[in-house]
Amino acid sequence: MKKYLSLFLWVLILGFFVGFVYADEGVSVGKPSALRNLVSAESLEKRAAMQYEQLKKQVAQQNALAPESSRELAHLRQIAKHLIAQSSRFNPRSTQWQWEVNLIASSQINAFCMPGGKIAVYTGILRSLHLTDDEIAMVMGHEIAHALREHARAQAGKGELTQWGSLGLSVITGGRYDGLVRAGANLLTLKFSRNDETEADLVGMELAARAGYDPRSGISLWKKMSASHRGAPPQWLSTHPSGDNRIREIEKHLPEVMPFYKKAMENKRRQNPNH
Ligand SMILES: [Zn+2]
Repeated sequence: MKKYLSLFLWVLILGFFVGFVYADEGVSVGKPSALRNLVSAESLEKRAAMQYEQLKKQVAQQNALAPESSRELAHLRQIAKHLIAQSSRFNPRSTQWQWEVNLIASSQINAFCMPGGKIAVYTGILRSLHLTDDEIAMVMGHEIAHALREHARAQAGKGELTQWGSLGLSVITGGRYDGLVRAGANLLTLKFSRNDETEADLVGMELAARAGYDPRSGISLWKKMSASHRGAPPQWLSTHPSGDNRIREIEKHLPEVMPFYKKAMENKRRQNPNH
């Protein structure tokens, strides 16, 4: 009897751990690209911070940078804060980042998060698409995911490889090598691979869900984005091709993140029983 009891106990403990691991699994995106190791994270983040400062200065000169008193900016920062609180599981270094969120008055449908957590959202994406808070969380979650998974750093690493390849070739052929474009020179206009985009969608969905934002809003977001395409092509769409594929991929992975959303909502209800 005692033997069975201890066996039962072991099964219970094992079940608890298996359940715990599974419940905490989330989306599966594997390890970040090894190419990123060719470029130092610190130097890339420093460069990003400099470019972000420059952009802020330029935008402020045109009176297009939302002031600290802006309620819309405060609201954005609130949503970002919830997402950032969930970020370390995807990149432990991100706890040391000097995160920044700014709002730029521009009709452009655009948003980005540079390496090191420098976020900008354009009023165009908020207003012309009439984004809900859940949809804003999906946009920011997606952009934050690019930074957490260090897609820019991997791209810079790839550039570094190609550069060395061409350098070797020019030495062999005796030609002058003057095509040295330093990798990732402009971190504001990066275009990521389709694979990186899918990864950012999935990680962004999980960040949003864990932060208490409905990940199903990814579907309405992309529908709105596609519909907006009828006019002038929005900036965001030029680097983020929309389409049914994207929506299908989001739908496929919803079951992996919905439990996080439900749990976050339960916690919220417990903390605020009157709401
Ligand atoms: Zn993207």
